[in-house]
Amino acid sequence: MEIRQGVMWEWPEWFEVKFRCIRCGICCVGTEMELLAEDIERITARGYKLEEFAEEKDGVYRLKNVDGHCVFYDPEKRLCKIYDIRPVGCRMYPLVYDGKSVTTDRTCPTWNTVPRSEIERLVPYVLKFLEDVKLAKVKIRLRT
Ligand code: SF4
Repeated sequence: MEIRQGVMWEWPEWFEVKFRCIRCGICCVGTEMELLAEDIERITARGYKLEEFAEEKDGVYRLKNVDGHCVFYDPEKRLCKIYDIRPVGCRMYPLVYDGKSVTTDRTCPTWNTVPRSEIERLVPYVLKFLEDVKLAKVKIRLRT
């Protein structure tokens, strides 16, 4: 399946890494996950206010932490409260950009279950994602 530029982020599920996530929640601790304008629209449409779940850092919107973990993470149930509409960056995790290239984040205990084919499929989108998160502020301002 090809993802069309311009509307590509409207199918967040397409960007999900197919691997063995054990839902340990480690990636929800001290999150700095960047948000796309499309993520913000999806989450605010669910009734959350932007300032409740996002903060701006280095010109980019990021998920907020509460008590040291993502505002949407429920530590008792060990579940994401918005799992069905979670951000694209969370779906592409454990793929991350280390400043040089796209790689798998070794803090994820099952990083080594990410198939090479998934890395190859998603590398261009991780890079595009990192460009597009920089536009979220402007896009959100224009849409409100
Ligand atoms: S750290 Fe890895 S295994 Fe744990 S919840 Fe996050 S993606 Fe899943």
